[in-house]
Amino acid sequence: VNLQLEPQELAIQEQWRTFAREKLAPLAEQLDLTGELPAQLPEILRSGNLLKPFLPVELGGEGQGLFPLVLGLEEVARVAPVVGILCAQQAILGIRAMNAFANHPDKQARLREAAGFEKIYALAATEIAAGSDLSAMETALSGSPESGYTVKGGKAYVNWAARAGYLVLLASTPVPVSAETAASPAASTAASPAGGTEKSGKTMICLSLPHPGVKVGAVHKTMGLGGIEASPLEIDASGVMDRDLLGVRDFGQDVYDRIMNEMRIAMAAVGVGISQAAYDVAAGHAKARKQFGKAIGSFQSLQWRFADAAVRIEAARLHAWRAVEVAGSKLLSAKQAAMAKIFATESAFWVTDFAVQVMGSKGFLLGNPVERLFRDSRFLRLGHGTSEVLRNLIAAHP
Ligand SMILES: Cc1cc2nc3c(=O)[nH]c(=O)nc-3n(C[C@H](O)[C@H](O)[C@H](O)COP(=O)(O)OP(=O)(O)OC[C@H]3O[C@@H](n4cnc5c(N)ncnc54)[C@H](O)[C@@H]3O)c2cc1C
Repeated sequence: VNLQLEPQELAIQEQWRTFAREKLAPLAEQLDLTGELPAQLPEILRSGNLLKPFLPVELGGEGQGLFPLVLGLEEVARVAPVVGILCAQQAILGIRAMNAFANHPDKQARLREAAGFEKIYALAATEIAAGSDLSAMETALSGSPESGYTVKGGKAYVNWAARAGYLVLLASTPVPVSAETAASPAASTAASPAGGTEKSGKTMICLSLPHPGVKVGAVHKTMGLGGIEASPLEIDASGVMDRDLLGVRDFGQDVYDRIMNEMRIAMAAVGVGISQAAYDVAAGHAKARKQFGKAIGSFQSLQWRFADAAVRIEAARLHAWRAVEVAGSKLLSAKQAAMAKIFATESAFWVTDFAVQVMGSKGFLLGNPVERLFRDSRFLRLGHGTSEVLRNLIAAHP
């Protein structure tokens, strides 16, 4: 096992770290206070050239994979976790999934738009009645490849839906659309490009936004992650063609699972970044703050818990790295990604709670970084598969 980072990986890590400190740190509090992405953020992210290395070589990138992304996400999440989630979505949906599954003739231009944050990617799966249980989804695709499909339904929470340029959407395809279906190019592939061989009755679709058939509701107010801008959607979109599908109709579950596995690994990295940031602030305070004539960090009770926090952070980081290692293996990846996400996100909640405790009352005051990180960390145990549902997944793959 060699955990030494390669020079290119170190370079990306350093690039994202410097960018986050110089360009994102001044925005972190504003994100929390306003609950909105600053208008200039996409331009700032574009100027940082963060995602260009992840484009395929033939599109001017370096074809970098998931591992350097995980390194970079940790750095951004230390400063602005919500921007880490935005970057993760942009890289995993807009570049990696689009590159692997898009059928659209403008695919290459779309990848470049994603890398430059010119068009934001949104992911829509959860519905009011279908949260953890997506088999209860009511959003459905109907129609035929010749005349076009219609997708109809609603989604409950879609990050950045109001500002997105593309909506990646999971819909059910309950009934074979028509006899011609079997002859359509999109339906004729025996196995999905994600490696699955079973029809799931679900289809992934990529719609351009704004779209006359997609109505975006008001942004939900949230406990943390200000700027995540999650809105409900009403969808009644016609004229969807095979080229708008990701992968093959009826094989969408495989595509969705791959996106989710990668997003779970990314959320683990965001969790590590949150933990590390909270640890650093708390450690600085523990050295400076004196009570009973001593630095509070000299009390063994705190030292042991700092040691526990350090153990959790390092273990979470290694969990995420291990999940990347097996991400290409269909059998292992879901389980390993679930383990990494559970451990890193639950650790982030534990470490940020401890950091609030170390800060004393200061840690409870709005505007203190650990207070914000504590609130930000809470969502990570819910989104992209709750801790409970991911435990079920691990238990099902002993
Ligand atoms: C700010 C925000 C942004 C979001 N962004 C997006 C987005 O961009 N795209 C998107 O598709 N979704 C998004 N979501 C939705 C999020 O992913 C879901 O809320 C999450 O998956 C859980 O679904 P639910 O809220 O319906 O909870 P439920 O499924 O109702 O679960 C409630 C509780 O029951 C537990 N539970 C459920 N089933 C089981 C079981 N079988 N065994 C044990 N326990 C169980 C859960 O773990 C949880 O604790 C977002 C949510 C929020 C709050």
